[in-house]
Amino acid sequence: MKFSTKAIHVGQEADPATGATIVPIYQTSTFTQTKVGEHKGFDYSRTVNPTRVALERQLASLEEARFASAFSSGMAATSAVINLLSAGDHVVVGDDLYGGTYRLFERIFARYGLTFTYVDMRDLEAVAAAVQPNTRLFWIETPSNPLLNIVDIAAVASLRRPDQIVAVDNTFATPYFQQPLALGAQIAVHSTTKYIGGHSDVVGGVAITDDRELYERIKFAQNAAGGVPGPHDAWLTMRGAKTLAVRMREHARNAQTVAEFLESRDDVARVYYPGLPSHPQHELARRQMSGFSGMLSFVLEGPVERALDFASRLTYFSLAESLGGVESLISHPARMTHGSIPKEERERRGITDGLLRLSVGIEDVEDLLGDLRATLDATADRVDTERPLLA
Ligand SMILES: *Cc1c(COP(=O)(O)O)cnc(C)c1O
Repeated sequence: MKFSTKAIHVGQEADPATGATIVPIYQTSTFTQTKVGEHKGFDYSRTVNPTRVALERQLASLEEARFASAFSSGMAATSAVINLLSAGDHVVVGDDLYGGTYRLFERIFARYGLTFTYVDMRDLEAVAAAVQPNTRLFWIETPSNPLLNIVDIAAVASLRRPDQIVAVDNTFATPYFQQPLALGAQIAVHSTTKYIGGHSDVVGGVAITDDRELYERIKFAQNAAGGVPGPHDAWLTMRGAKTLAVRMREHARNAQTVAEFLESRDDVARVYYPGLPSHPQHELARRQMSGFSGMLSFVLEGPVERALDFASRLTYFSLAESLGGVESLISHPARMTHGSIPKEERERRGITDGLLRLSVGIEDVEDLLGDLRATLDATADRVDTERPLLA
């Protein structure tokens, strides 16, 4: 079965009880048992719920895997993966990553006796040098947020010892464009809040694996800690995921057009998009991904005030956190998504105050280009008035 067919059919057989064509929202916390311990496989909805099971089967199939565990958020899914570790264990982490992941690792899990080393994962020697005898996990995010760096998943996986796990946050690429498990990773994690849900109306996460033992342990953590999505959220996510393929094709096509437009402008200092031949890792992206997704970042010429002004004056790009919905969004990473990273650390990684990030939606691209062009022109008088942003 091919990707789009799986998205619409796997886990979504007609309801055995009623024949309902669409998976019902089993809005129930508990299930009646016929005799003590005798039931239809469902007892309590933290442990298992039929709507969530349908979502888990659907999402596992999209990563070509057997198992998925759905969570109430991407961060809950990430936490469950970290729950596989024990005090004293060490994690090698890519240094350009979602700010909330950094916050979770440093402000919560570092207090539990886990240690994290952040490296530029584009540099395989740096990754190898960061490995310690107690390293149990490699945490990869690619393309990374917000600089769209690409990590060579297969190369990092080739460093892995049998007692180690490679986990990939596949939120930006989605399983439509990138399949981490086929590249040697053991776990793919998503914030389903983003492209998989796709409509900015539900928060969720998922951890997917083809390894039964890892699945059992994640499932145990899911049931023990309980960060599960409610049945209505599971249902909304499933509905969104049905159209993932068509949406991702449009997101990628619009993003490519927007990236090329921005790169053609004299008043844009730099564009980060893996689909541009000017991206330093364009060849790796072409090898590892089947498309370049809908996220891009860029730096405007001019003072920081121009970037801030620009971000709030667009018509079709809402100034907002998050990404991956059908509507276009713009954000200012240094003050929004990545505000929890200390300024010095942020700037060292290239997240300067002039950086803007776009989640390119699936509106008509002519409208998006017109909006960007008009707003660039309207803020052009601020160029050359102060220090350049790319200092
Ligand atoms: C949003 C996001 C997360 C966190 O997911 P939530 O659903 O907001 O908890 C993790 N990783 C990446 C890359 C994200 O964009």
